[in-house]
Amino acid sequence: MKVRIDEVSESIQIIRAAVTRLPEGPHRAPAQPIPPGRCALSAVEGWRGEIVHWVRTGEGNCLERCKVKDPSINNWPAIVEAVEGNIVADFPVINKSFNLSYSGRIGSAMFKILQKSFRVGTATADYPRLAPRVAEQFRGCPEFDFAAWSDARPAAEACPTGAIAIRDRDGARQVTVDYGRCIFCGECEAASTDGAVKMSRQFELAATARRDLVLTADYTLRPDGSHAGLKSATSGPAVEEPGMRIARPSKISSGARSRLGRWMQAHATAASRRLLR
Ligand code: SF4
Repeated sequence: MKVRIDEVSESIQIIRAAVTRLPEGPHRAPAQPIPPGRCALSAVEGWRGEIVHWVRTGEGNCLERCKVKDPSINNWPAIVEAVEGNIVADFPVINKSFNLSYSGRIGSAMFKILQKSFRVGTATADYPRLAPRVAEQFRGCPEFDFAAWSDARPAAEACPTGAIAIRDRDGARQVTVDYGRCIFCGECEAASTDGAVKMSRQFELAATARRDLVLTADYTLRPDGSHAGLKSATSGPAVEEPGMRIARPSKISSGARSRLGRWMQAHATAASRRLLR
């Protein structure tokens, strides 16, 4: 919205600048007689892409045919692919994420969508009675093999939301994983080279108590800070011993916030590119 407002203000400035620099002389030229059967094509850049106008002249100095092609027409067929396998409730979100124009030749694209909908039939699954069917590329929550985890520091550093927190004291480390903060971004898997963190296709994390979303693991440490051995791994928040507070911030730290911003920017752009490919 802010970009649109900025664009309007920029456009007004451009128009004002152009008006003040108009050359002297008539601003309208009388139309000359144009022979019938002549065609003209123009393409100008619109904010969604290229807008094409095609005209053909007829008898009596009039236009006989006029065709306008909105840039959205190139992207409407992509919606047919994007909605596949999704439930009806997701359609408005998918549709609006393309932000296409309803003008121009959308009739045929909409017809194709309807055709496909009738062909596919009901896509909504009887969940939770039946096991959910998720897409191949679906990314769920990360799973942690605490025993095999050789060092939690890279994952905690990479985690953009602060869902992984560590606290070291006297040669020991407490690691907490808070699924309540997790956005399933996969940065922890990429940062953990030992294969102990793996993104799963699991998404059913509903819990009746906040503490059920937290995992805690205790390690002994080597002098270089890597894990020497797993002492315990439990579900639930860490028990805070006197003098040892778990680094579990009540709000996202500024470092985590800027990592989250960078992550969202990079992945939102990549996702839109994938959709429009
Ligand atoms: S998936 Fe992302 S948000 Fe979740 S724990 Fe890993 S790095 Fe943090």
